[in-house]
Amino acid sequence: MDKIYLDHNATTPVAPEVLDIVTSVLQNQIGNPSSVHSAGRSARVLVDEAREQVALLIGASPSEIVFTSGGTEANNFALLGVAFGMGKPGGHIITSQVEHPSILNPCRQLENLGFVIDRLKVDERGHIDLQDLEDVLTESTLLVSLQHANSETGVIQDLQKIAEITKKKGVLLHTDAVQSVGKIPLCLQDVAVDMLSLSAHKLNGVKGVGALYLRNGSPDLFSPQCGGGQEKKRRGGTENVAGIAGFGKACELAKRRLESQEPSRLASLRDDFYQLISSQISGVEIFGDLENRLPNTLNVGFSGVEGDTLLIALDMAGVAVSTGSACSSGSGLPSPVLTAMGIPHDKINASIRFSLGCSNTIEEIEQAAKVLASMILLNRSQATSRGTIKN
Ligand SMILES: *Cc1c(COP(=O)(O)O)cnc(C)c1O
Repeated sequence: MDKIYLDHNATTPVAPEVLDIVTSVLQNQIGNPSSVHSAGRSARVLVDEAREQVALLIGASPSEIVFTSGGTEANNFALLGVAFGMGKPGGHIITSQVEHPSILNPCRQLENLGFVIDRLKVDERGHIDLQDLEDVLTESTLLVSLQHANSETGVIQDLQKIAEITKKKGVLLHTDAVQSVGKIPLCLQDVAVDMLSLSAHKLNGVKGVGALYLRNGSPDLFSPQCGGGQEKKRRGGTENVAGIAGFGKACELAKRRLESQEPSRLASLRDDFYQLISSQISGVEIFGDLENRLPNTLNVGFSGVEGDTLLIALDMAGVAVSTGSACSSGSGLPSPVLTAMGIPHDKINASIRFSLGCSNTIEEIEQAAKVLASMILLNRSQATSRGTIKN
């Protein structure tokens, strides 16, 4: 059987339609969008068409989209842009303990520069407490930055309610929606978010492209990346025309998928997968809220099994997944997200994230579950015979 890719929250395969447009632009469009000649104007048209497609997916207007090099840059832009554009050391920013490193690390840098950062805790299901937000929020808070959906657990925060709270206080709200956009519907006409980060490669576009949505009428931000006057002086640098055109196409495809049965198909594939493994093996525990969760994500622990050992064995069997272990996190610490949810380290080191995408089929899910269950049974029987596991 071909390889089974169950790691779509890390990155997704490029959609064939996206590949077509990206290669065609690379081959045929030599212009710089800032050039006045026809080659330049033609590249400009491509960028502007993509801007419309991205805006359409999230209910924004094209003038509110600033293209970046990805989700990381969009997150940095939002945080540093507000901190340096509107604030000064001593300024107050609220975020959470379960954000992506591209939020947590700029926050740490701002803290080192004298900004005051509050990091909201989450409960055992991965949700922030809205009361905590109200308690720390003041009218002079510069910015609230809270993710829409978590990449490790798929847990979705109540953005609507968060936005009601920040709006009432007149405080800017940014959300890292890299994981949610294209997977669940979101219309910015209905949700009072001021800034939102997107990344193309999480929705079948290419790596190295993303965008920051900046609501019209928002205050001027500091631009961490300045150069030529691109993106209305908000983000300098010659645009990644091919990547941006592909991003636009990817958003168009994502919109179509959202309007189809795809989200419910993914959720039922994911739930079938869980049923298949939990009916064959004991000691399986799901991490994160089951109700408010991305349709494609399943984070589970298998008691007595090392996640990393399993990851490597699965990889050799052709199944790609992620773990929350200390080794995988790169920092030497077990997943801060699962840690913030109060999950003990031994359970985190036994956790695996499965994240599905539109190309996954029921046959793949059945095969992956079969391989996984037999590996865990084998691993446990070996561990028991070596006497390394009690009970
Ligand atoms: C992947 C991801 C990012 C970073 O996006 P890049 O385009 O890879 O820089 C940011 N936030 C979340 C939640 C992500 O999953």
